[in-house]
Amino acid sequence: MSMTFDIVITTDRSMMSDHHHHEFLGFMTTGPAFGVPEWLWGWIAAPKPKVDKLGRPKVAPYGLRKIEAALQDAGFNAAVVDPDHIDKHLDTMKVLMIGHHDFFAYGPPSSEWWTITGKEPYNRVSFRRFMESPAIREAKRRGVKIIVGGPAAWQWLWALDEWRKWGVDTVVDGEAERVVVDLAKKALAGEELPDYVFIGPADVPQTVEEIPNINHASVNGLVEIMRGCPRGCKFCSVTLRPWRSIPIEKVLDEIKVNMSEGEKGIILHSEDVLLYYADGIRPRPEPLIKLHSAVRQLTDEPIGWSHASLAAIAYAEEKHKLVTKITDILFSSKKQRYLGVEVGLETGSIKLARKIMPAKAAPYRIEEYPEVVERAFAIMHEHNIIPAATLIAGLPGEEPDDVVATTELVERLRPYRSLIVPMFFVPMGAFKNLEWFRRNSIRPEHVELLKATLRHSAYWARDIVDRFYLKGSRYVLVRAAIKWIVNYIERKAEEAARAVEVRAGGG
Ligand code: SF4
Repeated sequence: MSMTFDIVITTDRSMMSDHHHHEFLGFMTTGPAFGVPEWLWGWIAAPKPKVDKLGRPKVAPYGLRKIEAALQDAGFNAAVVDPDHIDKHLDTMKVLMIGHHDFFAYGPPSSEWWTITGKEPYNRVSFRRFMESPAIREAKRRGVKIIVGGPAAWQWLWALDEWRKWGVDTVVDGEAERVVVDLAKKALAGEELPDYVFIGPADVPQTVEEIPNINHASVNGLVEIMRGCPRGCKFCSVTLRPWRSIPIEKVLDEIKVNMSEGEKGIILHSEDVLLYYADGIRPRPEPLIKLHSAVRQLTDEPIGWSHASLAAIAYAEEKHKLVTKITDILFSSKKQRYLGVEVGLETGSIKLARKIMPAKAAPYRIEEYPEVVERAFAIMHEHNIIPAATLIAGLPGEEPDDVVATTELVERLRPYRSLIVPMFFVPMGAFKNLEWFRRNSIRPEHVELLKATLRHSAYWARDIVDRFYLKGSRYVLVRAAIKWIVNYIERKAEEAARAVEVRAGGG
């Protein structure tokens, strides 16, 4: 194999990082630098990974690894390269593929931080800097084809100026493992490329065998155990994809790839971990216990979950004592004391839940949703599971009493160790007139909700940093900086809330 690549796969620094081995810190890339200089923010949120002499990072985002595997398995001379090392491949590179979760910070929670603070989020600044860097400009000058994709592909439709200015040839929207091989062939043959490729359900990998295993280590050992989600919430795009569980052997093989390259972390990725090979919407003990035992047998390192639904947590425990059984397996290793997971709480209003996510409480009735949420939080607290819960505010159709119901629920969740983050629904186009949007869409009820979540999260953030997170002397500085930022955000948010109150009070 030649020492440089025909196809280079990459992303900007905000994504090409192991976030100090803590996915939560990766969240910071979605906000602007608060209270500290941008370089320090970047160092906390997205430190550079180690690279080899070709600029290949030791770990890379899972999505990029999947594209790399699809291309390498099809025989292409392709690899993931760190954004600081693209210039090493200028002489051979014909195609540059760039993936991202949030190219322009139009997705949550970046868009929300942006509207609240009025400052461009770090990820957006970082991506722009990357696209305008000398290496990328030189690549374009030499005729390299630029193909972009990933979960945020749709954002390019709202960034036509950048699309043109940066010379992006093709935008790929959807699960790209099948389509990317064809595009690569075309690009290398110098054929005309399509502007926009939308991958519908018929073009995604139909069988799990068609999904290639990663060939190299993923950030924090993330491996996929399921794709898609059956709940069908109206505001969510995951729902458009078919729902598939990945067989245990395949999951274990990917974990072994990570371990063989020295990546010790393990994050099981799924929109709802507890629905792994579920019976419809009901979690089943057997596949979950098998999966967790098998992974635990492989390694005594901590195992994380990406996402779980509150209804599945409540049901799994209440019906099968399954949360107890799984955490017993996980905590059988001395190295694991807690389990972090993202959960979508969305709203405390039954009326709104019925409209936007009628299946969110299933198999319980949607009328029970607020109680299901409380029970799930209590179960997690008892089992040292620390959720980062997201709320969605400002959706079209939301009424003031819906927001009040959510605030009341947040207050009832106070006893349970967790972080709660509100996400404001920001319609596309609002960015053109940010000030107008900020003034007119944030209501006094939203301010109360913001304050309630902030009180909750600031309280528990300190507890989590002290008791569980970033233990050991090598994280002393990161830990101190996080606490400083939590204090700063709390102060600033109180000030901002007061300002909005004065404005609202004064008409
Ligand atoms: S439960 Fe989560 S992943 Fe599933 S449709 Fe709803 S928001 Fe999307």
